[in-house]
Amino acid sequence: MRENAANISSSVTRRPLPDFVPCIVAAARGDGNRVTATLHCRIGCREALAHNRKKQQGDMTTTIYSARKIITMNPARPTATHVAVRDGRILGAGTLEELTGWGDHIVDNRFADLILMPGFVEGHSHAFEGAVWRYVYCGWFDRVAPDGKNWTGLRSLDAVIARLAEQEKALPDAAAPLTGWGLDPIYFDNVRMTREDLDRISKDRPIGVMHASFHILNVNTKALEMAGLMRTGVNHPGVPLGADGLPTGEMKGPEAQGSVAAHVGLDRAMMSGDERGLRDFARLCVRKGVTTATDLANPLPPDTVEMMLRVTGDATYPARIVPLRRYLGDDARGTIEAAAALAEKSSDRLRLGLVKLVADGSIQGFSARLRWPGYYNGAGPGLWYIPPQRLAEALEAALELGVLVHTHTNGDEATELVLDTMETALRKHPSADHRFTLQHCQLADRAQFRRMARLGMSVNLFPNHHYYWGDEHYALTVGPERAERMNACRSALDYGVPLAIHSDAPVTPLAPLFTAWCAVNRVTASGRTLGETEKIGVYEALKAITLGPAWTLKLDGELGSIETGKRADFAVLEDDPTEIAPENLKDVRVWGTVHDGRIFEAAKI
Ligand SMILES: [Zn+2]
Repeated sequence: MRENAANISSSVTRRPLPDFVPCIVAAARGDGNRVTATLHCRIGCREALAHNRKKQQGDMTTTIYSARKIITMNPARPTATHVAVRDGRILGAGTLEELTGWGDHIVDNRFADLILMPGFVEGHSHAFEGAVWRYVYCGWFDRVAPDGKNWTGLRSLDAVIARLAEQEKALPDAAAPLTGWGLDPIYFDNVRMTREDLDRISKDRPIGVMHASFHILNVNTKALEMAGLMRTGVNHPGVPLGADGLPTGEMKGPEAQGSVAAHVGLDRAMMSGDERGLRDFARLCVRKGVTTATDLANPLPPDTVEMMLRVTGDATYPARIVPLRRYLGDDARGTIEAAAALAEKSSDRLRLGLVKLVADGSIQGFSARLRWPGYYNGAGPGLWYIPPQRLAEALEAALELGVLVHTHTNGDEATELVLDTMETALRKHPSADHRFTLQHCQLADRAQFRRMARLGMSVNLFPNHHYYWGDEHYALTVGPERAERMNACRSALDYGVPLAIHSDAPVTPLAPLFTAWCAVNRVTASGRTLGETEKIGVYEALKAITLGPAWTLKLDGELGSIETGKRADFAVLEDDPTEIAPENLKDVRVWGTVHDGRIFEAAKI
C-alpha cells in the first residue's frame, strides 16, 4: 500500500495541476485507471485526497487574503470575507475558518480594508488606447493618459488648431507628420474641420486628426497631395468634395482613411499595436480594475502576434488580452480560416481565434446605417463597411468552422442586416452555442432584441454614449424619441439577451465602473436623463462588466466571478460599489488588480 502510494505521488509531482485525484485504493487493487480512480474518489477516498493535497502543497503556496468585503458575483455565495489562492487560481471564497480546510497556508491581510471583486472584463476596447497617447489629444473632454497625466479638453476648433500648432513646434524634422486624435466636431456645432483649417498649422508637413469615433480622419492639403487625392474627379462615398470639386480633407470609413493614413503617421504597425503601446494599455487596465481586455479590431499580422505573445508572456505583464482579428478586404473565408489557425497559438494571457466584423460607421459621425426615417438633422444614409454578400460569407464560414464572431453595428439598419444574415447562416450551419455578439448595437429596438434572443446572439452595448454624446443624439443625430432607447440595457435583459457593456477605448476612456454608472444612471454631459425605463440596477451593471463580457468571449467558465477553480483575477477597490449611492458609482476608487494571483498596485504601475 505504501509503495503504491509512493509511486502515485511521484507521478503526481510531474503533473503540476492534475485534472483528477489518483486513488490509492484503486491503485492498490491494480485497477488505478482514470475512470475507476475517479469513481473511487467520488465516493470519498479521503486518504488519497489528503495525501495528494499534501503533495501539492509541497509545490505551491496557498495564500488566504482577507478583505473588507468580497463581492463574488457568484449567486450561490454572493459575499465573503476571505479568498484562498493557489497557483494563480481560486481555491474558494468564504470565511477564514472554511478556507483553512485547504491545508497549510499563509494569511495575507494587505486587502483587509479594501473590497475585492472579480477582475473587470472589458469586452470592447482597443489596445491602441495605449499607443494613441503618442499623438496629440484633441478631444472635448478631460482625459487621463497611461502615465497618469490629465489632458484638458478643448472647447473650440481654434483651441484644437492651437494645441496642434504648439505640438508641431516640438517635432524634430520638417517632413515628419503631425497626428492628432479625439476630435469631436459635433461639440463645435457640428462645424466640420477642413484641409484649410489644418493648412493653418503647416502646408509643408502632412497633418492628420482622427475623430473621437475613429471612423473619420481629417487631413491637410499636403497629406492629400501625398496620397494623390488633391485633384478633381475623386468619386468615393467616404471622400466628401468641396464646392471647388476637391476633397475637403475629411476621410470617412476604412477605405478612404487607408489611402492617407500612412502619410499622416498612422502606420499600420502602430495601429495594430506595438510593444510600448501594449504595455501602456495594461497600465491603464490596472488603474481601472481591468484584468482581461479585448483588442477588438487588430489585423494581427504574424509579427504582431509574436510580439503580443512575448509581451503578455512577460512575468510582470498585468493583463489578459483577447485580440479579435479584423476582417478587411475580399476574402471572408480566408479571414475566418486564419483566425481558426491563430487559436492554436493562444497562451494563458493572449487568447486568439476570434474575428471582428464591422457593418457600418458611427452615429455621431453620421456614418452609421439608420432605418427610416434616418438622421434627425437630415444627414445622408451613412456607410456600409462590408458588402452584404461578404457578411454572409464570413458568418457562414465562422459557424461552419466554430470561430466566434463579434460584429459592430451602430445603426438599426446595420443590426437588422446582421440579424437577417445570421438567421440564414444558422439555417445552413445550426449551432447550439455560437455566442456571436453584436457590438455597440446602439439603436436596437425591442423587436430586434427579441430576434437576438431567438438566434442565440449576445449583445455588448455602449452606455458611455449617453454621457459623451447623449445630448447630441437628442438634438441632432437620432432625435428625442430614439435617443431614449439607445443602448437599451433593460430591454436586452428583459428579453433574455446576454448583456455586456463597454467603453470602446480609446473612443471613450477605459473605465468599467464609469461604464456601469452610465448604464445605471443614463445621464448626459448636460445632466439630462435619457431613457428612464432602460436603466439597469447596480448589480446587473456589475455583472455586465464581469460575467457578461466573459460570456461573450466564451471565458465565463474561467473568469468573471470569484469562485472555486476560476482565475485569481480581482479588481481591488477602495469603496464598495454596492454600498455607495448609485449616482456615485463612477467615483469608486480603484486600488489596483490581482491577476493570476499576482498583485499590481495602480499607484506603482
Ligand atoms: Zn471599437
